Amino acid sequence: KYYEPHQVGFQSANSGGKIPLGLKSKTLRIVVTGGAGFVGSHLVDRLIARGDSVIVVDNFFTGRKENVMHHFKNPRFELIRHDVVEPLLLEVDQIYHLACPASPVHYKHNPVKTIKTNVVGTLNMLGLAKRVGARFLLTSTSEVYGDPLQHPQVETYWGNVNPIGVRSCYDEGKRTAETLTMDYHRGAGVQVRIARIFNTYGPRMCIDDGRVVSNFVAQALRKEPMTVYGDGKQTRSFQYVSDLVEGLMRLMEGEHVGPFNLGNPGEFTMLELAQVVQETIDPNARIEFRPNTEDDPHKRKPDITKAKNLLGLGT
Ligand code: NAD
Ligand code: UDP
Ligand code: UDP
Repeated sequence: KYYEPHQVGFQSANSGGKIPLGLKSKTLRIVVTGGAGFVGSHLVDRLIARGDSVIVVDNFFTGRKENVMHHFKNPRFELIRHDVVEPLLLEVDQIYHLACPASPVHYKHNPVKTIKTNVVGTLNMLGLAKRVGARFLLTSTSEVYGDPLQHPQVETYWGNVNPIGVRSCYDEGKRTAETLTMDYHRGAGVQVRIARIFNTYGPRMCIDDGRVVSNFVAQALRKEPMTVYGDGKQTRSFQYVSDLVEGLMRLMEGEHVGPFNLGNPGEFTMLELAQVVQETIDPNARIEFRPNTEDDPHKRKPDITKAKNLLGLGT
């Protein structure tokens, strides 16, 4: 008798997902790289609640122990301080590969480290997936579309990316990570999944993280002016973190490689976002215009038709 991978907790790249019952325990062993960060820690909460065994691998560059501390006494939880740029030996069934700073302020802080994390770190985790026959999910980004010339962005769009700009360590890094992921899939039969994540917000974002939602909220609470970069007419689409985690888990458990856009298509200018913060926190909160950062995408909005149809999301 054969069982689906999620029922027996074991998959092999060559098994087509069909493994005889009794070879492995029913608990899935899952690595979450970057699991002490904002998105990763919410994913860990859901996986632990589902009954899986979770190993978080994190170098604490932007992540914090506090985000996962509530699992320390759980025997199904393990935390390893490790930099994914170095090889790592583990025996697992699934790898959620999130390790990478996500805020422009953080990823521009040490650009060479950022691209090493995206390229060498992803290579190592794919090497691990190949060796143990684990399924591998890459958290890529809407930044692969660069400053998009197509709006909204569909997965078939190849993007408009500056290869030598200050954001390139992140967006070209993620593009290379996608390439590596597809090459391990085609060349070595590794089971892979690719998510292109659009701007996400929610609890556990670092208050000094530099991203727009946390900046505006923190500034309004501190009675400081909200810093709008440029003319504030650039747009973004924001999704709540629990929706993203649902999407990541459905993608991992489903049968489609992707890439899939995971985001909320509601599109706002940064001035509109500042207004929402005024209405929510402080009607007297002031706005201060600052020069914009280099290569800031003018607009961004996901087309999520594919995720709706194939992953049953957003319904
Ligand atoms: P985050 O900065 O909160 O989390 C990233 C985690 O990775 C941190 O815990 C950090 O310490 C860890 N990390 C960084 N470099 C590492 C390394 N070399 N080795 C080991 N650990 C390392 O960011 P997040 O918002 O949680 O983003 C998680 C993932 O989702 C990232 O891959 C990011 O690119 C992607 N993503 C996020 C968004 C978003 O809006 N939050 C949008 C698009 C893509
Ligand atoms: N790797 C790893 N853990 C493993 C297996 C591989 O970190 O369990 C690393 C390995 O050190 C290498 C990378 O993954 O740098 C790619 O491994 P692969 O076997 O695909 O390539 P090769 O080692 O043959 O270059
Ligand atoms: N932004 C802003 N004020 C801030 C931080 C960001 O106006 O204090 C703008 C930024 O120029 C960009 C948008 O908000 O157009 C989203 O920036 P963020 O860093 O959150 O994410 P990005 O989508 O650029 O990765």
